[in-house]
This record gives sequence, C-alpha cells and structure tokens, in this order.
Amino acid sequence: MSNSFNYDLFVIGAGSGGVRAARTAAKHGAKVAVAEEYRVGGTCVIRGCVPKKLLVYASKFAEEFEDAIGFGWTSEKVSFDWPTLIENKDREIDRLNKAYIRNLEGAGAELVLERAEVLDRNTVQLASGKTVTAKYILIATGATPFVPRHLPGHELAITSNEAFQLDKLPRRICIVGGGYIAVEFAGIFHGLGVETILIYRGEKILRGFDEDLRDHLAAEMQKKGIEIRTGAHVSRIDKSGEGVRVTLEDGAAFGAGQIMFATGRIPNVAGLGLENAGVHVTPHYAVEVDEYSRTTADNIYAVGDVTNRVNLTPVAIREGHAFADTVFGGKDTKVDHKLIPTAVFSQPEIGTVGLTEAEARATLGKIDIYKSSFRPMKHTLSGRDERMMMKLVVDGETDRVLGCHICGPDAGEMAQLLGISLRLGARKSDFDATMAVHPTASEELVTMRDKWVAKA
Ligand code: FAD
Ligand code: NDP
Repeated sequence: MSNSFNYDLFVIGAGSGGVRAARTAAKHGAKVAVAEEYRVGGTCVIRGCVPKKLLVYASKFAEEFEDAIGFGWTSEKVSFDWPTLIENKDREIDRLNKAYIRNLEGAGAELVLERAEVLDRNTVQLASGKTVTAKYILIATGATPFVPRHLPGHELAITSNEAFQLDKLPRRICIVGGGYIAVEFAGIFHGLGVETILIYRGEKILRGFDEDLRDHLAAEMQKKGIEIRTGAHVSRIDKSGEGVRVTLEDGAAFGAGQIMFATGRIPNVAGLGLENAGVHVTPHYAVEVDEYSRTTADNIYAVGDVTNRVNLTPVAIREGHAFADTVFGGKDTKVDHKLIPTAVFSQPEIGTVGLTEAEARATLGKIDIYKSSFRPMKHTLSGRDERMMMKLVVDGETDRVLGCHICGPDAGEMAQLLGISLRLGARKSDFDATMAVHPTASEELVTMRDKWVAKA
C-alpha cells in the first residue's frame, strides 16, 4: 500500500477483534503490526470465555456425582483440588496464547508486545518511547471490569480477572451484580462448594433477558442453595480476619472470604490519546463508530468491546473481519447486529435469541406465546428437583418466530441452531412441521401446540 508510513495498519489490542482484523488485513496484502500490553488472545482467551467455561465444567461435577447414584453408581468419596484445576486451566490458556501468536505471525502480522497510544491520526507511541506511523489505525482495546470506587473498602474486592487466579477458594463468597458474569460465577463457586451470596441492586437478575428466563433461572439457582438478595446495595466493605465484612445499605452485615464485583465493564480508552486524533468517545467511554466501525477520524476504526455495541467474542471477531474486508479487501462489509444468539453459562444454562416477550409486545400488535416447563428426563432417575423451560415468542399476524428462550442443559447449543432458523424467518408452522428428535429436550421446541394464556 502506501510507502510513506511504517505500516498500512496498526492494531492496538490483540484480543478477539484485533487479532482477526490483523490476520485478515495481512492476508489481503497489508503490512500490519499489532500491539498488545498484556497477553495475546485478549479477554476471551486469557480471562474470559475460555477459562470461564473450563471452570463451569469443573463446577458441574459435584452434581454429576450426586446424580449418578440414581443410575446405580456408587463411588468412594471424591474430592476437589482448586490448585490442580487452576494449573491445568493455565496450561490450556498458555497453549492457546501461543497458538494465537503463531497464527498472527503466520499471517505475516508483526507483533509488538507493549502498550500503544495514539499520538495523532497516523502516529502511535509505544511504551518503550518508540513511535511508528500507519495509514490506518484500529482501536481494539476491549474493556475492563468496572468497580464502584466510591464504596469504602472497594479495594478489598476482586473482579473476574482475579477470580481466575485465586490461591485458594474461600469458604463463602459475596458476588455483587446480576448480569452475565455474576450469575456465571455464582454457579461456578457454588458448584465448587463455596457458600455463595449474590447481591443485586435491581428487582430481578439478568435485566434485559426475557422475564420468564429471569424468574426461572433465579428460582433454580436458589433451589441449588445460592442466596440471591435483590434490591440490595453494598454500602461498605471492611477487612475482617482473612476475609471481609460486607455491610449493606439496609444495615445488614455478614462476613465472607472474598467479595467479587461483577458490575459491568468499561471500554479501555483511558490514556489512549484518542482526543489527539479527533476520535469521539461517548459519555460512557465507548468509541463512537459508524456501521463500518469507522470512528470520527476517517482513517481510524474501532471494533469489539471498546465500541460497546454487543460485547461478545463472536461479534468482536465479525467486526474485525468486516473492517479488514472493507478497508483492505475491496469489499464493503457491515456487521448485522440483529438476532445475535447468546448463552449465559449459568447453572442451569441459558440460551436465547431474538425478541423477549416484552420487546415483542412493545413493538408489535398481536403476540402469541408458547411455553413449557418440564423435568429433564435425566432427573427422573437422578431425583434432582430441577426443571427446564422453553419459550417461543411468535408474531400473531405473520406466524414468524421472533424469539426463543431456553433455560436448561445445553441451552447454549440450542440457541446457536435456533439463531439460523430465526434468521431464515422461520414460522411457528415450520417448527410444528419439523419432526422431533426423540428423546431429547429440544423436541419440546417443535411439539408445543397450545398458545399460552395468562391465568385470569
Ligand atoms: P479483548 O479481547 O478484551 O482484547 C483487547 C486487548 O487489548 C487486550 O488483550 C488488552 O490487553 C489489549 N489492550 C488494551 N489497551 C491496550 C493498549 N493501549 N495497548 C496495547 N494493548 C492494549 N463473550 C462470549 O461471547 N462468550 C462468553 O462466554 C464470554 N464470557 C466472558 C467471561 C468473562 C469473565 C468476561 C470478562 C468476558 C466474557 N465474554 C464472553 C466477552 C468477551 O470476552 C469479549 O466480548 C471479547 O473478548 C471482546 O474482544 P475485544 O477484541 O473487543 O477485546
Ligand atoms: P453486565 O452488564 O451483564 O451486568 C452488570 C451487572 O452489574 C448488572 O446486573 C448491573 O445492574 C450491575 N451493576 C452495574 N453497576 C453497578 C453498581 N454500581 N452497583 C451495583 N451493581 C451494578 O456485565 P458483566 O460484567 O456481567 O459482563 C460484561 C459483559 O461481558 C456482558 O454484558 C456480556 O456482554 C459479556 N459477557 C458475556 C458472557 C457470555 O456470553 N456468556 C459471559 C460474561 C460476560 P443493572 O442490571 O441494574 O444495570
């Protein structure tokens, strides 16, 4: 491309979005460099999706051992060792980190393992003091856990970053928040034998999700023994022995080995120098972009969590790829942010895609609801008191399925496939005409015939 700059593209941040953009741009023939201040792979690989899912697997064995008894199994007393889990998890993360580095270098991108900041529209300054120039700059710096710093004692709390590296498990943990991370980690800690208290400021956990899902998950988590206190606000945290004492605004206080904030994440723009290049940031610190991920400076783009659109790994990857295709591949590509399936790896798991019932009712005239709650077959013998729920939100005029919401085993796997059906515009009659796979839980999705009617 241009000879007057050191690079065609300089990417800041080697996470999901940055790595995909760098590799794709390099494959399109661009001269690319990527800066990373922590570890290549970013949040998802190093301290997000991947280690989280490994911990979820680990935490499910306790119930599996209990459930096995109803199937005739007896076992000697089993035990769990947290350091072994963390050591094995770290080994897998190291393997992935190396694979990401290999893939970047294999694609021809140059890796710079230091922090980078924007000096002007075409210049980046590295932590070592070196400056480099590039025709295009991509901001892919992700986000960081938000901690309410006004709270006295907030520095005693951990976030998801530290949760992956604890030396030992506490006997009791207090988790603050009611979003993805809070409910996922509540399941992890509880499953590993930690007494778990979830403190959420709102009325119901998982704001933004379908109401039935929220109710169902909260009830199932409570049945397992997780304490959920809603309408609760932490007012201070004090050191107490080896742990903390947590005081709530209503005066209630209790001790815990750890307190973890899972109170959202903020885009990594602090000290990035975006103002030097005329890149606008919203009041919530998100980099402002158009539908091609172009910022207010026309040679600077931004993808992934730093833009706070939909903060999921596959979305960051798509945005990175679309950027590279648009700028270096000669093919203008937008990312469609509608109908994104998502899973919450809570216990039980959530899988969801499309409109919630409330969203559908707010935008469309006639809505039909189909829902079912049942005991998964496995629990007929295990004896576990756990139910699965499924719900379809259907446009009463056109018969199109607008939303599918599932809470129960493998719900995330189902959401992936339902996402395809909904994108294809599937109607309820298509669901009905599809033969069931028996015996499965997902067959319920194609056998729900009766519209749900609210009880008078
Ligand atoms: P990141 O992956 O965060 O990468 C940004 C990179 O930029 C980081 O490596 C950072 O060190 C680097 N960086 C920042 N500033 C600079 C700088 N100035 N110079 C150099 N480098 C810099 N999503 C899912 O889809 N499924 C899940 O199951 C899931 N689980 C999650 C669990 C947890 C605990 C968390 C925290 C997140 C989870 N997510 C999940 C969200 C997912 O991790 C993010 O959406 C995704 O990683 C965003 O990718 P990104 O490229 O925008 O940013
Ligand atoms: P979320 O936005 O999902 O949840 C944040 C929670 O913290 C909400 O319940 C919010 O309450 C609460 N909260 C915010 N500020 C405060 C405060 N000052 N005091 C008390 N509570 C507060 O963020 P997470 O941190 O859980 O996760 C970040 C993002 O990462 C997710 O939104 C998701 O995009 C992604 N992620 C995806 C996963 C997946 O795909 N399985 C797993 C983990 C993360 P309120 O609802 O009232 O605003």
